[in-house]
Amino acid sequence: MSALDPARTVAELRALRALTGDEHGAQRLAWTPGWATARSWFGEQLAGLPVTREVDEAGNVWVTLPGASPTSVLMGGHLDSVPNGGWLDGTLNVLAGLEVLRRLAAEGTPPVTVKLVDWADEEGARFGRSLIGSSACSGNFDPALLGALRDADGVTLRAAMGASGIDIDRAPAARSRLADVAAYVELHIEQGPVLERLGLPLAAVVGTTGIERHRVTFTGQAAHAGSTPMDSRRDPLAAAARLLLEVREIARRGGGVGTVGSVVARPGIVTAVAGECDVLLDQRHVAAGPLAAMHAEARAAAARIAVEEDVGSAWEPILELAPTHFHPELIALCDDAVREIAGTSHRMPSGPGHDAIETARAGVPTVMMFVQSLRGLSHAKEEDTLPGHLELAVRAFDRLVDKTIAWAHARPA
Ligand SMILES: [Zn+2]
Repeated sequence: MSALDPARTVAELRALRALTGDEHGAQRLAWTPGWATARSWFGEQLAGLPVTREVDEAGNVWVTLPGASPTSVLMGGHLDSVPNGGWLDGTLNVLAGLEVLRRLAAEGTPPVTVKLVDWADEEGARFGRSLIGSSACSGNFDPALLGALRDADGVTLRAAMGASGIDIDRAPAARSRLADVAAYVELHIEQGPVLERLGLPLAAVVGTTGIERHRVTFTGQAAHAGSTPMDSRRDPLAAAARLLLEVREIARRGGGVGTVGSVVARPGIVTAVAGECDVLLDQRHVAAGPLAAMHAEARAAAARIAVEEDVGSAWEPILELAPTHFHPELIALCDDAVREIAGTSHRMPSGPGHDAIETARAGVPTVMMFVQSLRGLSHAKEEDTLPGHLELAVRAFDRLVDKTIAWAHARPA
């Protein structure tokens, strides 16, 4: 019997980094040769295991270890990366899942079927829409709309998927894949600084934050910087600056986060008061009520500032996403698994989006586990986690899968 070997996972992560990375980081952008290389390497690691490997209609890769029952426990991750990405984002989940499959297979037939999915195009880095493969499985996928998305070179998502052998019009058929899934579990690096600050290696993730993302346009009057007295200006950039500072205070008071990531002023020259200014605003909170309150406060602040600066203001929604709540019983199992392996657990939400959002939206009981990220860095070549913490994560995730198998087995179908 081969016991779980977490050191093997770390070695495989390093091997994948060497195979698909360069001096700028990981190069496994979805629907490109680097991604295909990672996926075929992963396929080779399955040799000798009593599993099947299939690609679904949306390009997700499914590895199945048949159990005594067709009811399935699903583990998930993604081998795609952003350009110049990190070595652990998405890949830790997949390779930890592989190690769990090895351990389970060595012990015989599990009571339920255990699957591992490598989701297609989680990152959305090329076409601007993330969670492509998992949204096809959850039913939140419109081929007509998404197929027309273009990358920086003008290539459509439809063409890119076609070149990888995927007919985008058939992608929604992948929905049937979740039919027999009783639970979805995903291990991921935190990608933020919270666990490092707490001095903890692992946490149970309670859900993902809701998002209010909007474009606010302030409109004033472009005017000469030399001839226009200070008391007769209608300066939309001044309004934008004031809103940015308000958004920070609103987030601090509300217990969420608020970001103005971009301000673009037109005409944008040093010799003119700006005539128009676009502000990109992103607010997040784990709970719907406080998120709505933060958003209402931002709108009220913008309206007040617009009056005081004598400018117009208009709002255009970009993304409005409700918070996702993971399954309370699975969160408790995850808490237990973390405590048994690491001594202490912690519950926290995820700010970044993950494929687990889509499985939860599809009604599949879902939970995630986080492992500490060093310096909170991700989507960068500096992304890292202590090897000892990676090994703890594999052990705790293995424990969570065992608990979830027992939970799914005991549940009425
Ligand atoms: Zn990821």
